[in-house]
Amino acid sequence: MRGRFAPSPTGRMHLGNIRSALLGWLQARAAGGTFLLRIEDLDRARCKPRFLEDLYEDLRWLGLDWDEAPLFQSERDAVYREAQAELEREGLVYPCFCTRAEISRAASAPHGLGDDGPRYPGTCAHLTAEQISERSRTRAPAYRFRARPGAVRFTDDLMGPYAQDVQALVGDFVVRRNDGVASYQLAVVVDDAASRITHVLRGDDLLPSTPRQLQLYEALRLPAPDFLHVPLVMGEDGKRLAKRDGAFALAELRARGRPPEHVLGLLAAWSGLGDGSPVSLPSLVARFDVSVLPHAPVVARESQLLDALGLR
Ligand code: GLU
Repeated sequence: MRGRFAPSPTGRMHLGNIRSALLGWLQARAAGGTFLLRIEDLDRARCKPRFLEDLYEDLRWLGLDWDEAPLFQSERDAVYREAQAELEREGLVYPCFCTRAEISRAASAPHGLGDDGPRYPGTCAHLTAEQISERSRTRAPAYRFRARPGAVRFTDDLMGPYAQDVQALVGDFVVRRNDGVASYQLAVVVDDAASRITHVLRGDDLLPSTPRQLQLYEALRLPAPDFLHVPLVMGEDGKRLAKRDGAFALAELRARGRPPEHVLGLLAAWSGLGDGSPVSLPSLVARFDVSVLPHAPVVARESQLLDALGLR
C-alpha cells in the first residue's frame, strides 16, 4: 500500500491538517506500506517558502517521515499538459472563455458545490473553431473537462457509499485555469497516479471533489486509489479549523516546548485512538484502526488543548 500527505504551504499547519497527516501516516505504517509527501504549491502567490520550512519542521518534530523525495506540483506542469493533451485528443476538453460573472449570470441554480461556485452551464461546450480563434484574440481561455452525465458512485473507506452526479451538480469542470495553471482536480489525479498511490486519506472537505477525480481517472485510463475521508476538526465557533486559529498552529505548540507525545495524545483522542494522555508514535501505529475513526466533525477546544499539553 502507498499513501501520501499532500499539503499546500499557504499558512502554518494547524492541528486539523496535522491530524490528516498523522492518520495517513499511521494507515501506511500500520500496513507496512510506503508514505509520500507531495507539496501542492500550484498557487504560487499564496505558497510561501517559510510555510514550507515550517511544514517540514512540524512533520519532523512529530516523527512523521516520508519515503521518497517529495513531489512539487509547481515543477510538474509538463506532466499535467501531457494528461490534458490526452484528454483533448479524445475531445474531452474544450476552451472556455467565460468570466466568473458570466457564469453566475448564466447559471440557473445559484450554487453547485459550495466553494466551487455555481454549476457551469456549458456555455462554451460547443464553440466552432472560428469562434474559438476569435475569442482567443481578446481572452486567454480556461480549459474544461466534459463531465459525464449520471451518478458517479464509490465506497469511501470511512464514510461508506457516496454518489454524485457531477454533470448535474458541477457541470464541465476546469482542468486548466485561464492564468495557465493546472487545476487541483487534474494535478491531484495525475500525481496520485504517477506516485502509484493506492490509498488517499484526507479531510472530508474533499469528499465532493472525489467524483470529479474519479471521472478523470477513468478518462485517462488510470487506476483510482481507495479513498478515506475523515471529518474535519472544527473550532469552538463551529467553523472548520483554519490558519487563523493561531492557538492550534503546531509551530506555536512546538515553541511552547512541550514534548510531541502530548500533541499526539490530543490528536489520538480526536481520532478515537486514545483518551488524550500522552502517547508515542509507535504505540499509535499498533493501535491504528480505521473502524474507530469518528464519522462526525471533532470540536477542538482550547481548554482540552491546554490540558493535553499540561499547561494548566
Ligand atoms: N492540497 C490539498 C489541501 O491541502 C489536499 C489535496 C488532497 O489531499 O487531495 O487541502
